[in-house]
Amino acid sequence: MDGTLVKPEFNDLIWREVIPELYARKNEIEIEEAKGFIEGEYDKIGEYDLRWYSLDFWLGYFRLNVREKEILGEYAGKVSVYPDVLSTLEKLSKNYQLVIASCMGNDFIGIKLRKRNIKKYFKRVFSAVSIGLIKKEESFYLALCSSLNIKPGELIHIGDHYEFDYLVPRQVGIRAFYLDRNSDKQKVSLDGVRSLHDFTRYLCGGEGNSG
Ligand SMILES: [Mg+2]
Repeated sequence: MDGTLVKPEFNDLIWREVIPELYARKNEIEIEEAKGFIEGEYDKIGEYDLRWYSLDFWLGYFRLNVREKEILGEYAGKVSVYPDVLSTLEKLSKNYQLVIASCMGNDFIGIKLRKRNIKKYFKRVFSAVSIGLIKKEESFYLALCSSLNIKPGELIHIGDHYEFDYLVPRQVGIRAFYLDRNSDKQKVSLDGVRSLHDFTRYLCGGEGNSG
């Protein structure tokens, strides 16, 4: 999702701007002081703790009197999809059943799927955190396949993290592609693509960017 369909700036906005601002206002301190404090608290819990991914957890932790639904709703307009996303989903959804596989929680996934109504292209949504896994590890992909009632070889996966979107799914026999949007090389690596249009061309042949 992030870095593949949606630009990752939204997450930074919520975690590094909105939360510190709320904290600074509530505790009547300077925003820079709040930012430093909040970053330190994030690090104390750390990304290997499931609570780290939960906005509601942090709102409670910092005693901010607001619910995650309100925050996500207020900033929904800041979600931004990459320019190749809509034409790609339109084209691929004609020949494939599309599924979201994300390490984010369902709340963050939901707000992003509402952008440009891209939700309508996806048959299912799988959130690693929501099934108690921190990363998209092997067990995540195996759970996804068994839930879809398919063999790993029947799944094609694309994502922008070299390890968790490419190496790990390949380990269990999934056909995986590494999306490297920042690459300036012609071909980033074996099974590497620079855009979703490149990916569509691989899968469908012809011009992926015709839509
Ligand atoms: Mg990603």
